[in-house]
Amino acid sequence: MPSSKTRIAIVGGGVAGLVVARHVVSKLNIYSLTMFEQTDDIGGTWVYTDETHFDKHGLLIHSSMYKNLRTNIPKEVMQIPDFPFRDPDAPSFPSHTVIREYLMDYAEHFNLRPHIKLNTLVKHIEPETLKNGQTLWTVTYEDLETKAETSKTFDAVVLCNGHYTVGHVPHIQGIESFHGGCIHSHQYRVPEVYAGKKVCILGASWSGIDIAVEVAQYADKVYLSHNLPEQIDSKMSSNVEQRSGVESIQGSVFTFRDGTRAEVDDFIYCTGYEFTYPFMSTKVEIRTDDNHVEPIYKHLVHMDYTSLFFMGVPAIVIPFPMFHIQAQYILGILEGRVQLPSAQQMREENETEKRSLLAQGILLRHINKLKDRQWAYYDEIAAAANVPSFPPVARKIFDHVSEMRNINFTTYKNYQYHIIDSENFSVSCSKPC
Ligand SMILES: Cc1cc2nc3c(=O)[nH]c(=O)nc-3n(C[C@H](O)[C@H](O)[C@H](O)COP(=O)(O)OP(=O)(O)OC[C@H]3O[C@@H](n4cnc5c(N)ncnc54)[C@H](O)[C@@H]3O)c2cc1C
Repeated sequence: MPSSKTRIAIVGGGVAGLVVARHVVSKLNIYSLTMFEQTDDIGGTWVYTDETHFDKHGLLIHSSMYKNLRTNIPKEVMQIPDFPFRDPDAPSFPSHTVIREYLMDYAEHFNLRPHIKLNTLVKHIEPETLKNGQTLWTVTYEDLETKAETSKTFDAVVLCNGHYTVGHVPHIQGIESFHGGCIHSHQYRVPEVYAGKKVCILGASWSGIDIAVEVAQYADKVYLSHNLPEQIDSKMSSNVEQRSGVESIQGSVFTFRDGTRAEVDDFIYCTGYEFTYPFMSTKVEIRTDDNHVEPIYKHLVHMDYTSLFFMGVPAIVIPFPMFHIQAQYILGILEGRVQLPSAQQMREENETEKRSLLAQGILLRHINKLKDRQWAYYDEIAAAANVPSFPPVARKIFDHVSEMRNINFTTYKNYQYHIIDSENFSVSCSKPC
């Protein structure tokens, strides 16, 4: 007898997968769920490891966490709305260990474990569209312990495989002649290994600056190389020198775009990541060139296969609570409560938005970086799913954090936030701010 329940497959047991699972298991009368996780535990990128390249199964190490990492969003807004952190008085910017424990607690609280297959790699996903227009998904997965391969059919697939594992590494002329240490931020773990060294860090987004601040405590010199229009004005230690992008490399000599040169011992690419869906059938069109994922509607649903969902695409957002809204939007679609426009209308709507953003000077690869656009996005999908959006206080705190970070990158995590009500917050300093 075919199951009358909607069978959902979730690929990946990081935060996104766990949040989707939490909403699915609240309706086990209409859904059945299997979550596939390739590693031996849940938590995704928040599962810190000293390892940097391959795991015991020969897969790329998934986590990008570094040892001293503390969150860059205060826990008061980062937490999932229906699952606050245990200790409200704990520091606002906790370590990755605290976040990992929080995710373990979340999975226990919502009894997600019975639905999770650990050490299970999704290798292939194939759609089959029936005469009635319904698409079925065959998911082929490998038990990495026994090597047994199995295929199962599902009605919907939610991709939560994370996007901070495959580093984007731009080619630099002469890089082959450089014989110093060379890693991507994905492999960065501790600053002590750079003691007394001259280190070039390429890229000054979140990781670039964070790593520069850490490494500068040990290194002789840090060249923070970037192509931002202006120098970053945040206070950094005096051995950090900002340079323009790296033009070329000759042995240990780096030439920057402004024509200046420097001797470098170690090089760290903090140049971002690439979206990859290596398991997906070529029947399903997914374009990820220039770090822009298409054709997906509302950063979430495939326009031609509306039972295929992509979590984690928007960046410069508040991911955990965003996933909470997105998960409910997905269930709204599956239950027919959220009506999607036709594929053609979705394409037209997307194209219009894309053209407008490009005309405003936003590069294609930055379209998914929502930043100031995030609030309208949350409100829109929350309204469609008929669930609460972010309260105004979240934006106020987010903006305060951004402002304090711009003033002084080395101290902004000393602030302690307290939410008073949905509109107001207070802030104090746990250490000098
Ligand atoms: C260095 C760094 C710092 C960050 N700091 C913050 C912060 O302070 N606050 C914040 O809110 N966010 C932060 N983020 C963003 C972070 O990515 C999100 O918070 C969140 O962890 C994303 O969750 P995810 O579930 O989408 O992906 P992930 O956490 O990456 O989880 C994806 C999961 O999918 C599994 N998987 C992948 N492929 C397969 C497959 N084929 N088969 C089976 N399983 C598979 C992986 O093993 C992994 O467990 C940070 C990210 C990085 C990299």
